[in-house]
Amino acid sequence: MLMLQFYNTLTRKKDFFQPINKNIIKIYSCGPTVYNYAHIGNLSAYLFADLLKRYLRYSGYKLIDVMNLTDVDDKTIKASQENNQPLRQYTSFFSNALLEDFEKLNIIRPKVLCRATEHISEMIELIQKLINNGYAYKADGGSVYYKISRFKDYGKFARLKKDQLKNDVSGRINNDEYKKEEATDFVLWKKWSNKDGEVYWDSPFGKGRPGWHIECSAMSMKYLDETFDIHTGAVDLIFPHHQNEIAQSEAATGKQFVRFWLHRGFLKINSEKMSKSLGNIYTLKDIQKEISNPLAFRYLVLTSHYRRGLNCTFKSLKMASNSLNRLQHFIKRISEINSEIGNVNSKEDINKIKVYVENSKKNFRNAMNDDLNTPKAMADLFDFLKKINRLVDENKVGIKGAKMILNFLQEINQVWGFVKFSVEKIDKDFKNKIEDLIKKRNEYRLKNDWANADRIREKLIEMNVVIRDNNGSTKWEIKK
Ligand SMILES: [Zn+2]
Repeated sequence: MLMLQFYNTLTRKKDFFQPINKNIIKIYSCGPTVYNYAHIGNLSAYLFADLLKRYLRYSGYKLIDVMNLTDVDDKTIKASQENNQPLRQYTSFFSNALLEDFEKLNIIRPKVLCRATEHISEMIELIQKLINNGYAYKADGGSVYYKISRFKDYGKFARLKKDQLKNDVSGRINNDEYKKEEATDFVLWKKWSNKDGEVYWDSPFGKGRPGWHIECSAMSMKYLDETFDIHTGAVDLIFPHHQNEIAQSEAATGKQFVRFWLHRGFLKINSEKMSKSLGNIYTLKDIQKEISNPLAFRYLVLTSHYRRGLNCTFKSLKMASNSLNRLQHFIKRISEINSEIGNVNSKEDINKIKVYVENSKKNFRNAMNDDLNTPKAMADLFDFLKKINRLVDENKVGIKGAKMILNFLQEINQVWGFVKFSVEKIDKDFKNKIEDLIKKRNEYRLKNDWANADRIREKLIEMNVVIRDNNGSTKWEIKK
């Protein structure tokens, strides 16, 4: 079995993964700025983080996972003012909308989902530490900046050359947007100005609010540790955001901040970058007009390798939707066999299915251990389905085989998360009772004792069970 390895942006190669603490992995994911609905590019990054976490759990680890919500910055303040709403009310609406999207996409909610505005004191404390350590300075009568020339390795993480670093006062910026790939002293605490209105906090540096980068350093270290295992985000966060997180955290603690940095590639629409000017920013609601099942988007995202990014088109969405339907249909077919009384496999067939399942499980783990190679894992899965379908056509999958197949699919769906097992979980005793009754009824039928056979049938109807007789075997289901 291949050992678990991830492509680490820190080293620019695949590194074998070992957690710092044996059984608990600590993960931080950069979350959204909650001033609008999440677009599908954002969502693809959260889907990637969800896949990673699900696979780590599947591999036997426990997790502490954190995601931030940026609920104060230029954009949120401006949008809340334009809508005449207090900042908190405005951002709450969009953080709730995000959670609805999570639900639709079957993204497991992070254990800690933290708002920047609820951690201002931690940020002030961290900024104070950076001032004390000589990495930050006050300027402009109340703002605080990070002095990048003081941090020896500034630019290394983003692979920026020294001549791209501008670190004199003229190159200072006081918002969160960098115009080019050029590094400048960045703001840690932004002093209050008129256009901030009611939004400010008091601090030893004067009234104002934190910059974007400091929020992730402060919250990740609060909930995880000064050094933690994995940090995820979209690839466009490498610079400046993640470079700045490293500079802040390591200058404050003197320790390595994060061991593994995993970045998700871009999502493009019809081969173009999503942008306001092109008018091609799509939300989950937008694409649901094309595909009824939102999990088809989850499926589509997982068909390409996370580092590669994804070109999303309506055609590819439709194709994903069709593939997912085929998979659902397959599960229905196997579930039906699972409830066919009297459908027994030969020992030979059971062994064959067992080998298929075991090999598929091994293939799945090998593919996923190799930097979450979902395209490979998915191709293997479809190969498995093809083999099983052939067996079903030959009538070689009985109850035992169907159970094995369903168990396996349910197991790997803990990681995929795009399949619905509509077979309702029926209480085991209830199920046994139904199967006993059907068996008895079939015995009566064989003896031409129709009166007793019908009596049992009535009883099953009373129990809300529908039965269908087919070639000597009987299928049943609970009436919906
Ligand atoms: Zn962040």
